[in-house]
This record gives sequence, C-alpha cells and structure tokens, in this order.
Amino acid sequence: MAYISVPSIWRSIPQLYRLIGARCRSCGVINFPPRRICIGCNKPSEIEEVRLSGRGKIYTYTVIGRGATVFEHTEEALVGGPFPVAIVELEEGVKVMGQITDCDPSEVKIGLEVEAVFRRIYEQDDVVRYGYKFRPVRKG
Ligand code: ZN
Repeated sequence: MAYISVPSIWRSIPQLYRLIGARCRSCGVINFPPRRICIGCNKPSEIEEVRLSGRGKIYTYTVIGRGATVFEHTEEALVGGPFPVAIVELEEGVKVMGQITDCDPSEVKIGLEVEAVFRRIYEQDDVVRYGYKFRPVRKG
C-alpha cells in the first residue's frame, strides 16, 4: 500500500478543491495538482489546464477515526463518526485523494467505481468551503 500523508496533502494546495489538472505540452502527462516541473518529463514545461472527469476507481483507502482527523474534518467526524478517505485513480490516469461519501464505510473497496460530487467540506469563521468528495457509481 502506498504511504500518503493525509494531512499535508489536504492542507497544502487549493487546486485540490477543484478538479483541474495540467497537461504537459511536451510529453502529454497530466499533472495533478499542477506543478512547475512535469512529473512525466521532469522539465519545466508549457501546460494546458484540463478539467478532470471525476470518474475513476478506488486505488487504496483508509478509514479516518475520531482523533486522527485533520482540521477540515473534525466537525464531521464528531457528528458522523469514522469516515473513509480514498486515493482514486481517475480515468485520465491521475490519482487524487478525497473523502468517500453517500455510502456505508463497509461498501468501500479497492476497485470500486466512484464519481466526484461537490459537497460542503468544512466551515470556518462562517465561511463554508466546498470541494469534491467521491461517491460510488450506482448502477441500474
Ligand atoms: Zn512533461
């Protein structure tokens, strides 16, 4: 399993709240979040913004319990108890992290098909922040 530092990723980059990646014009690799040095060719490159589909599959996940939450989720964990956070591999081949919502935590599995939905993430000083979470794709 890949080791990912949940809190540092959540805190660091505003792009994480929007699903906009940056496609490198020289090698075509999509960087998410956008970076100055392309992960595909290791060079500073010209990029174009691409809106990611938000559809993909769960690559790996963890369940965050009370006491282990980052600031943004403290309130939610107190109200709703432990919740799953996953690394989702999008159709574009990019891996992104997000909370899994609209399902029982026991439904969450590696390989589960999910789609991004925009939801309230947290509230601070009366400002409500929105961003994406993922929910299972319901069939039929
Ligand atoms: Zn590149």
